[in-house]
Amino acid sequence: MKDDSVYFPVTMEQKLGYLVEECGEVLAAVGKTQRWGLESFNPEPGASKETNREWILREMTDLENACAILRRALENV
Ligand SMILES: [Mg+2]
Repeated sequence: MKDDSVYFPVTMEQKLGYLVEECGEVLAAVGKTQRWGLESFNPEPGASKETNREWILREMTDLENACAILRRALENV
C-alpha cells in the first residue's frame, strides 16, 4: 500500500499551499475539459486514459480534502 502520509501538510503554510495547489489542479482539469470535452483524455503514448470527467472528479476530491484540512486548522487557531 502506498504511504501518502509523507505528503500530509503539517504547518499552516503547507495547508494554505495545499489548498492553492488543489485549486490550480481543478482549474487545469476544467480548462482542459472546456477545450476538449468531458470524455477526452491525454492522447500521448504512455499517458493514462483517464477522461477529463474522471480527472475533474479526482481533483474535486483532492480539493475537498484540502478544504477540510485547512478548515480544521483555521477553526482551531
Ligand atoms: Mg490534485
